[in-house]
Amino acid sequence: MVHCENCDRAYEHADELDHETADEVTLVEDGEKPEIQIGTGKRDVWRCRGCGSVLGVR
Ligand SMILES: [Zn+2]
Repeated sequence: MVHCENCDRAYEHADELDHETADEVTLVEDGEKPEIQIGTGKRDVWRCRGCGSVLGVR
């Protein structure tokens, strides 16, 4: 079971959540300004349908 701490919704299965595939993003901080590197990997992201909070990443 998945529980959203933000809006107190509970889901029995992960497929009840909103699912998207996102590019893997890494924030690199070396010295003066942070840079965002977009990696080659894809991440599966699950979001709460109530509030949009990310509840799981794989
Ligand atoms: Zn929520």
